[in-house]
Amino acid sequence: PAAVRLRGVSKRYANGTLAVEGLDLDIAAGSFVSLLGPSGCGKSTLLRMVAGLAPLSTGRIEWPGATPRLGFVFQEPTLMPWQTALDNVALPLKLAGMAQAERQRRAREMLALVGLSEAASSYPRELSGGMRMRVSIARALVTQPDLLLLDEPFAALDEITRFRLNNDLLRLWEAHRFTAVFVTHSVFESVYLSERVVVMAGGPGRLHADLPIPAPPR
Ligand code: ADP
Ligand code: ADP
Repeated sequence: PAAVRLRGVSKRYANGTLAVEGLDLDIAAGSFVSLLGPSGCGKSTLLRMVAGLAPLSTGRIEWPGATPRLGFVFQEPTLMPWQTALDNVALPLKLAGMAQAERQRRAREMLALVGLSEAASSYPRELSGGMRMRVSIARALVTQPDLLLLDEPFAALDEITRFRLNNDLLRLWEAHRFTAVFVTHSVFESVYLSERVVVMAGGPGRLHADLPIPAPPR
């Protein structure tokens, strides 16, 4: 079944820029899909519309199952500088009204899953770029989202850190099987991570190709 269905979705910004035009797309529940395309092709706009962060100009987005819990990972980790890694990860739980002891327990568990137990009481400025991105992923996953949206999350990182984080993300997805939509302009990353690569090119927000990626032998 589809986790989300887009029908005739367009986006025209107030300045007249047509960023996405008449787009139809189904994303299967539990799948890992990449949106691949050059800068400016409308990937980010599309993802933000799915997240409800940007209104559609035309068309509709349908959630055939229950409305999912969403997690969003931005290119810039956008952590609270005055809060420790642990408190940053626990923040969505705090906003949801969870009791302190329980949210700290879950945040610790999540930090352990991204390999950052040691950094729990460090502040963002004390962490490397890769570590900050791990905190950001932990924060997005701590609410156990059904749908994780990632907007070029690793673009600012060096290649080795990036490759490690690709593997960590795959491990988390294999363990939790949330639906993942990963926006990237890296052909390598899209093919390495996902089961399906949707290529955007050839005009504003147009789908150019839709490629199943066979699972590699493990
Ligand atoms: P991508 O994520 O593929 O780089 P974007 O969705 O960011 O593409 O941008 C698609 C197009 O929309 C680009 O031409 C970009 O300049 C334009 N755009 C993005 N955000 C805005 C905005 N807030 N106002 C006006 N134009 C925008
Ligand atoms: P990654 O981002 O994959 O963790 P890095 O090259 O950024 O890799 O860092 C390698 C390791 O060095 C980190 O896992 C961490 O243990 C340590 N490290 C890097 N930067 C810092 C820092 N600013 N403070 C404390 N430890 C750090």
